[in-house]
Parts: sequence; C-alpha cells; structure tokens
Amino acid sequence: MRMYDIIEKKRDGNELSEEEIRFFINGYTNGDIPDYQVSALMMAIYFQDMTEKERATLTMAMVESGDQIDLAAIEGIKVDKHSTGGVGDTTTLVLAPLVASVGAPVAKMSGRGLGHTGGTIDKLEAVSGFHTEISNEEFINLVNENKVSVIGQTGNLTPADKKLYSLRDVTATVNSIPLIASSIMSKKIASGADAIVLDVKTGAGAFMKDLDDAKALAHAMVSIGKQVGRNTMAVISDMSQPLGFAIGNALEVKEAIDTLQGKGPEDLTELCLVLGSQMVVLAEKTNTIEEARKMLEENMANGKALEQFKVFLASQGGDASVVDNPERLPKATYQIDVAADQSGFIDTIVADEIGTAAMMLGAGRATKESEIDLSVGIVLHKKVGDKVEAGETLLTLHANTENVDNVIQLIKENILISDKAVKEPKLIYEMITE
Ligand code: URA
Ligand code: CA
Repeated sequence: MRMYDIIEKKRDGNELSEEEIRFFINGYTNGDIPDYQVSALMMAIYFQDMTEKERATLTMAMVESGDQIDLAAIEGIKVDKHSTGGVGDTTTLVLAPLVASVGAPVAKMSGRGLGHTGGTIDKLEAVSGFHTEISNEEFINLVNENKVSVIGQTGNLTPADKKLYSLRDVTATVNSIPLIASSIMSKKIASGADAIVLDVKTGAGAFMKDLDDAKALAHAMVSIGKQVGRNTMAVISDMSQPLGFAIGNALEVKEAIDTLQGKGPEDLTELCLVLGSQMVVLAEKTNTIEEARKMLEENMANGKALEQFKVFLASQGGDASVVDNPERLPKATYQIDVAADQSGFIDTIVADEIGTAAMMLGAGRATKESEIDLSVGIVLHKKVGDKVEAGETLLTLHANTENVDNVIQLIKENILISDKAVKEPKLIYEMITE
C-alpha cells in the first residue's frame, strides 16, 4: 500500500477502506509516513469529507494507536460527559457529584489545557489539598467506593490524535467536521466510557459559532459513538454569553457549591439537570428522563448532592470544609465593581471576549507555560435580557492588581445595552440522538 494512492483516492472524492485508514494512522504514528503526505490527506479530507463509516474507522484507528483505559472493574455503566468548551462552563464540577449522588458511577479523566479559565482539574485544585495524581487502581477503587473520582490524564492515550491535531493546527485543517468528531470521540472512547453525553456549544464563546455547524458536529459524533457500540447523545446548548455568573477557578467552585444546593444560576442549573438526566438514563438508573430529573432535583433539595461533593473532595485529599465555608477558597485581594454607563436592557455579553478578560486577570493560560491564579476572575450580576439602571453594577472583577483599566475597557466594548426589551436567549437548541 502506498500513501500516495490514498491521498489521490481521497482527493478524487472516493471512500477509503478500513485497511487504508489504518495504514496511514499507524504509519503516521510510528513515523513511517511524513508530515507532508499526511498534510495533503488532511486537506483532501477537509474538501471531500468522509462517510459515516470512514469516520468511525478513523476514530477506532486513533483509539488503538495508544493505551486504552479499562474501567471493567467498576460496577455499572460508566457514562462520560464531554463539552466542546465554553466560557465559565461549570457543569462538570456540578455533574460529577450530582450524578454520582443517584448511584451512577462517574469515572472522569480530565485535563488542564489552555483557555479562559483552567480545566476541571485546575478548578478543583482551588480546594486546598485536592489532587488528581492517583494510580489507575486507586481511581477504580474510589469510583467503586464513592461513585465518583477524577483522575489527571495518564498513559499514552490517542498518540495519533495528538500528532494529527498539531499538524492540523498549522495546516488550516482543524475546522473539519469528520476530523473534529473523530478527534473528540477517540479520546472519550480511549478513556473507557461505555456511554457518552455530549454538550455541543454554539455561539460567540463556542468552538462552533454557527448553529448549523454545531448540529453537524453533534450528528457526526453521535453516529460515530453508535457505530462503535457506545451509546451516545448530544445536547446543543447556548454559549453566546458565559454560562452561569462565575468565570474563574475558585469562583466556579463556589458557583458549583451553590448549584448543588439548588441555589445556583438558572441557566447553569437547567443545563446540569438536562445533561445529568441523560447521563442517569444512559447509566440505566431509571428509564425516563422525567424520573431521572426528579431524582437529581431531589438530591439538590435534600443535601445529598452537596454531601457527595464533600465525600469526593475529601477522598482525593481536598479540604471539604470549603463546601460549608466557601470563604476558605482562594480569594483575590481586590473586588472591583464595573457599572453600567446607561440604562436599558442587556442585549449582548460576548462570551469569548469576557473569557479573554478573565484570562487577562490571570484565570486562564494563554500558553502552556503560563501560571494560573486560582483566585481571580469575573462574577456577572446581569445576564442577557436583564433590565439595568445607569450606575448599577454589571459585574465584579476579582483581581490581584488594581491596574485593570484594559480589562474594564474590553468588557465595556463587549456588553451591549439596548433601549428596547431583549428576550432571554434560548439555552437548549436541540437534543440529538441519531
Ligand atoms: N477539540 C478536539 O479535541 N479535537 C479537535 O479536532 C477540535 C477540537
Ligand atoms: Ca460559570
């Protein structure tokens, strides 16, 4: 088999065989096929697309390029949730203990990554002592004992995806539905999930800004999951404005604590209930979404979800007393209110730009080497559709410097106030099950 022929076949719009897909993934991973040939193939895929069958084959070839986590020793159906990323997305912090509290096992592998705030692991590390450097064995024991654990990325998972993603990043081929879908699904499958709930975001703060693109990506991932025997569904949710009120690591831990008690922001709470109900049904803890939602709402009201969060934090060395005393979380030196310049209704809060403002305060990493400040970030007081008076506080900056003029300027450019009433944006656009 020759790589040249594979490139030519895809260039001309033909379907690659399983053998051909495995040939180029294996050859690329072990260094036999050079970057320039794989670049050409990526560009051919970008223009010619892939069939559903090709996408599933590509995904499994990437899964099999490295280690796979075996979660068979955990009782029950392991459902994982994946979000395509957004601003102030606090859902994992809430969902892990919430879903575990009704008996569905949550075995989560998580990362740090770049972005407006840290990843789930960074956020959890705002709780003093909490750590995710645990062995696979300890991870499995913790899930069996407590129904929930979060482990940092271990092993050599999907090396083919790592190599391909770096190549796509410099060859203008990231933005391709079959390549994104197989990349995301390969990582979920390699980390051992039996079933997968996807939260595909759309809007300014999302990877897929356009609703039609988000739908196409969701369908592509659900199809891959089903073809390879992992029950998968997707929710398309809004990321035109940040989710919830808090954007920042310790600030989001506090927001998660509120939400686990049913006292959180309306949009974050609703999204957690929608995603959580799907996870509980896929885990076969009940048959209907309505029943699953009731179980989750009950555990928010009766304290079980919050109790589960304490057990989870303590089981990985964390100071669980922060749950009852959130003032013990890292706190920034300065709280600086930003007021509205005019009266009216909030029309737009541009999610990605507000995320950038949080990153400028130190909440996220601009490069792999940047240090995160767990205490800083932004807390919104208004969301799209809210009425506001001139001089009223729009949001509070939590900062460790008073020198925030450039942050305030960026924020003011990206919160638009209208004279006319503005409708609250839709939170859930669609549920995709095939
Ligand atoms: N995120 C991924 O993990 N892979 C992609 O290809 C794009 C976004
Ligand atoms: Ca939030």
